[in-house]
Parts: sequence; structure tokens; C-alpha cells
Amino acid sequence: MEKKRRIGFEFINKNDRNHRITLLIPLICSLLLLYSPLLVSSSVDSSPQTNLQGTGVPGSSVQTQEGPHVHEVHCSRERSRAAWSVIQEYLMPYVEREKYQLSSQCKLHPNNDLFRDQEEHKIHVDIHEWRCGYCKKSFRAENNLDQHFDNRHSNLLKSNGKCLADLCGALHCDLMMDTKSRKSKCNPAAAAKNRHLCESLADSCFPVNHSPSASRLHDLFLRQFCDAHTCSRGSKPFAKGGRKNTSVFYLAISILTLMLLPIFYTLVYLYQSQMRRGTQELKRISKLGHQKSKPS
Ligand SMILES: [Zn+2]
Repeated sequence: MEKKRRIGFEFINKNDRNHRITLLIPLICSLLLLYSPLLVSSSVDSSPQTNLQGTGVPGSSVQTQEGPHVHEVHCSRERSRAAWSVIQEYLMPYVEREKYQLSSQCKLHPNNDLFRDQEEHKIHVDIHEWRCGYCKKSFRAENNLDQHFDNRHSNLLKSNGKCLADLCGALHCDLMMDTKSRKSKCNPAAAAKNRHLCESLADSCFPVNHSPSASRLHDLFLRQFCDAHTCSRGSKPFAKGGRKNTSVFYLAISILTLMLLPIFYTLVYLYQSQMRRGTQELKRISKLGHQKSKPS
């Protein structure tokens, strides 16, 4: 009889375990379902970054041979994109804050970017679709679209545009292109050359005598980009920090938490009510076992 009762217990325990599993499955599913939009949105969020960094042919000098005249461009699109994103991330927030107008003489002015018009005619539909804004043709990857621009729309490059990639030495583009810090030996001559380029950029874009805001931005430019061009340790590039876009992330997290909480409590309530039903069943079975054991 004792054995029978034990079997009853085992049956209940098994039943209870099954209940737990059936309760856990929807919980996991709902969590996955709820987090999937976050995952998708985070990949969408990162799209402008991929737009800026791209996956073009590294260090390429673009050569386009099409139509009656041969058009050759020796400027890396990928490095130009990296330079553009460095400017947007680590300089423009401060320029905007000062309400300062960059002169067209400044090489950092958007109008001087050779590829600007083409870059603005990229439509990132989704992860696997890039569309040409000029002729609406679709491509699977950004570098295919880059190739298409080189082949079909090279006539739309800015005739007086400058190669933004030429400023990469001053702007630390490598840090933008490569997330892993590469440890290479510092070359004092290269560091001095980059520092000189950097300081001449600061002088041409933010002439100290122009205005107090120009003077402040000149100072900031030196701290942000030029001071790090040295082989002695100490100052790091982008010392002043960049654009802050964490608020969107926190907003998404808080909305998700608010959405998840009622679901979590509903599941807890369901689980507890199942448990209650389980213990009632257990009591009934043990009572039955007790009654059966009486006649013997
Ligand atoms: Zn096109």
C-alpha cells in the first residue's frame, strides 16, 4: 500500500514537471517573440553605420571605364565613408552646438566630398537590399551598389569634389573602420606628418581670429584629433567623445520591459494556479490510497 502511495506521488511529481515544462515553453516563446523586434530594430539601427562604413573593396582606387570617355577616380570610397562618419560622429555635434558655419574652403565641408551625392542616393531597403537612388536598380550588398555607381553613374561624381579619404591620416579613420585595435609600431615621421595635416585642417576650417566660436572649435579640433598624433603615450583620439545616441536604446528597453511585465505576471499566475490544482489532485490521490489501505 505504501508502494502504491509512492507511485501516486511519483505520478503527481511527473505531472507537476510536465506542467512546469508546458508553462516554461510559452514563456520562452513569448520572450523570443518580444525580443525579436529588438534584434531586428538593432540591426536596422546599425544600418546607418554599415551605410557609412560599408564593405567596399578595401584600399581600392576606383577605376571606371565606360562610355566614350574613360573616367578614372583614385579615391577609396570605403575610406571616404570612414572619414565622413568620423566627422559626423566626433566633430559635427560640436559645430552644431556652436551654430558655426563651415566655409566652403574647409575640406571637411560636405559639399567638398567627392562621393556625397552618390552616398545620398543609396537607399537601404533592408539588410539584403540596397537600391540605387538614380535608376532604382536593386542590389544585394552595398559594395555591389558601389560598383554600380562606378560603372553607371560616375558622371554624377562632383566635378570639383575632393577625396575625403585623403584626410584619413588626420582623422584616425582606421579606428572607425576597424573595431579591434591593431597594435602597430608607432612611426614618428608618420605621426608628425599626420599632426601637420591635422593642424592645417584646424587652421583652415576654424580660423582662430574669425570668431570666439571658431577659436573654441579650433581648440576642440586639436584636442579631438591632432593631440593623439604622437608616439608618446598620453592623449587618445576623440578625447572629447562623440554623438550620444543612447537615449533611443534606453527608450526601447523601457518600452520592452513595460510590455514584458504583464506577460510575466500572467504566466506566474497561471503557473501558481496549475500548482494549486496539482496539490489538490495529490491530496485526492493520497486520500484514495489511504481509504484502500484501510481494509487490509
Ligand atoms: Zn543606378
